[in-house]
Amino acid sequence: MSKRKPLIGITCNQDHETDRTYIGEAYLRAVEAAGGIAVLLPLREAPAGRYCRLVDGLLLSGGVDLDPFWFGEDPMPGLGKICPDRDAAEIALTREALTADKPLLAVCRGLQVVNVAAGGTIYQDLRGQVQNAYKHTQEAPRWYPTHGVEVLPDSKLSAVMGPGTRVNSFHHQAIKDVAPGFRITARAGDGVIEAIESERHRFILGVQWHPEDMFVRDSRQLKLFRMLVAAASGVG
Ligand code: MN
Repeated sequence: MSKRKPLIGITCNQDHETDRTYIGEAYLRAVEAAGGIAVLLPLREAPAGRYCRLVDGLLLSGGVDLDPFWFGEDPMPGLGKICPDRDAAEIALTREALTADKPLLAVCRGLQVVNVAAGGTIYQDLRGQVQNAYKHTQEAPRWYPTHGVEVLPDSKLSAVMGPGTRVNSFHHQAIKDVAPGFRITARAGDGVIEAIESERHRFILGVQWHPEDMFVRDSRQLKLFRMLVAAASGVG
């Protein structure tokens, strides 16, 4: 790895009611533990190209639901809170990353953003749309893995996770149709897609769980951030 630590741009949350932009410290700690320098990116669409060029890699964080407008649907009753500024900013940033082949790790909502930005679709609400889905909105502590995932072989994910693992789960949306150029690399036992990666890029990988909340107790989860940092350093 090069001596210079790579800059990893992390997308933030936005709270309309309090007029605040913020992000959980766990994302910063995970990037730093993996050898990167965290840079927080505001939710602005216009400078997405500049933001993308500014950093060596990107981390799309978790957050509220994606507006179904972006995949050609109107809102179903089970849709939760949405953030229009965040959708526009993150989709623009992701498209810049796809064009520039910028290393990108996407967490939870981030996975869904990548899939939609690249032309895929998602379920607005698993409970309303997928029969016999597991409980994917755990009420256990954030670090605790509540459901299993099968990891598909010959993937970047399997290189660090092995054939299967257990993960935490804080989502009620999930990927429906995978975007062209991406492959599914993990599923839960109920069939819900839990990870994808690009077949065309150096490192564009998304997970439906929250590795930043797990890595202290499960070192394999830190390896996801290490892969991002390595790719951002040009050695991935
Ligand atoms: Mn899940």
